[in-house]
Amino acid sequence: MAAATVSSPWFLLSSYRALRPRTTPANLILRLSGRRIRAPVGLTAPHTRLFRHITHAVDEEASARAAAARVDSGAPTIFDKIISKEIPSTVVYEDDKVLAFRDINPQAPVHVLIIPKQRDGLTELGKADHRHEEVLGRLLYAAKVVAEKEGISEGFRVVINNGASACQSVYHLHLHVLGGRLMKWPPG
Ligand code: 5GP
Repeated sequence: MAAATVSSPWFLLSSYRALRPRTTPANLILRLSGRRIRAPVGLTAPHTRLFRHITHAVDEEASARAAAARVDSGAPTIFDKIISKEIPSTVVYEDDKVLAFRDINPQAPVHVLIIPKQRDGLTELGKADHRHEEVLGRLLYAAKVVAEKEGISEGFRVVINNGASACQSVYHLHLHVLGGRLMKWPPG
C-alpha cells in the first residue's frame, strides 16, 4: 500500500485528531463559556499555523465532498444564477458560449472564472464528451483573451479542479485564470 502523503485524507484526519484540543481545565472553561477554541492550549506558533492549515484543509475537503454528492441531482448551481444575472458578478469577458467573471474569493491579484453558458452535462472536466470539444476549445481560448485583457499575458496559470479530492466546490465546469503574482510550483 502506498505511504500516506501529506495531502492525503488519512494524513489530514490523523493529524487533525492528534492536534485537536484536549479537555484541559483551561479548554473546558473556554468551551463552557461558549468561546471558540482556535488551537490547543500550549501549542507554539508554528504548530498553531499547522493546526489551522489542517483544520482548513479538512473543512475544504468535507465541503467539496458534500458538493460532489449533490452533483447528480441536476440542481442549478450558483453559476447558473450568475449566468441568469440573478446573482451579480463582475464580468470580464463574454461571448455566445462562455462567460468570464471575477472570483468572489480571489487567490491572486487577478482571479477570473470562465464557464460555459450551457452546462450540458459538463459538471466537471471528467464528464467531457466528444460533443463538448468545441466549447472546451472556446473556454481555453477565452483564458488567453482574459489574460490579455487583464494584462497578465506574460505569466498566468489556468486551473481546473476536477472532483472532490481536487476540492472542486461548484459542479459547473470552470477554468480559473490566475495571475498578477508569482505562481509557485508545485501548486498546493
Ligand atoms: P472550485 O473550488 O469549484 O474549483 O471553484 C469554485 C470557485 O467559485 C471558487 O474559487 C469560489 O470562490 C468561486 N465562487 C463561489 N461562489 C461564487 C459566487 O457567488 N460568485 C463568484 N464570483 N465566485 C464564486
